Amino acid sequence: MKRLSKIFFITTYLFSCFFTINAQEKNTSNEEKKWIDAGYKNAQISNLNFNKFYTDTDSDNFTHDMDLILVNLRGSGWDKELIIKTIQKTAEVYEQCGIKIKNVKYIEAYSPIEKLDISYNDYDHYKFGYKLPVANRPVLFFIRSNVEGKTATTFPSDKETPPISNIAFITFEVNKNEYKLERPEGYSPTAHELAHILCGCSEHNKIKKSNILTNYYDLRDNTITKEQCVTFKSKGMELGILRKL
Ligand SMILES: [Zn+2]
Repeated sequence: MKRLSKIFFITTYLFSCFFTINAQEKNTSNEEKKWIDAGYKNAQISNLNFNKFYTDTDSDNFTHDMDLILVNLRGSGWDKELIIKTIQKTAEVYEQCGIKIKNVKYIEAYSPIEKLDISYNDYDHYKFGYKLPVANRPVLFFIRSNVEGKTATTFPSDKETPPISNIAFITFEVNKNEYKLERPEGYSPTAHELAHILCGCSEHNKIKKSNILTNYYDLRDNTITKEQCVTFKSKGMELGILRKL
């Protein structure tokens, strides 16, 4: 009797294991599987429609739109809510150019290299940018920190070629007070990195007034000139990032 109940217990246990695994597999979409196969362990994807964040989505002011892929490496310090807030701010910044952020794919996964502090000089670190299972860009990585101490960085198309071009890394450091205190209030580092991607330029400009790409930290804010808007739109189209509305 004792042995029978043992067998019964083991069989029930094995059955429950089988069904748990099966249920987990069922909950993983094909899209998530692609990311998991590429090394992004336990990837979970959600699609966010940013249209709802605009008060007037059909506004004539919008001439172009774009999609974004966001990858949050688990343990970075970032969470979904904070990242959505960051992208909302970025959307506000680009509204001044008539560029709308439309579909946003949010991916949460473990770091493919099992590190959260990434070096931009060491291929072994940023190589996971080469292993992205999608060709769409831009891809913004949300990481904990950078080994060389950079708070955010981009690989724009003037410096890099696909698949590494048009990806950016934004560290959690940008949420800290010491970072914020050095910059004008409301400055969006994510919008700044996106500006590098849209202009296809890694350099900052020498404009001595408020600007999104100025070399002067104390003047670097979310201001985009009319000329910059024109450049972002034409370069963004050329790079296949923007769509004309
Ligand atoms: Zn920059």
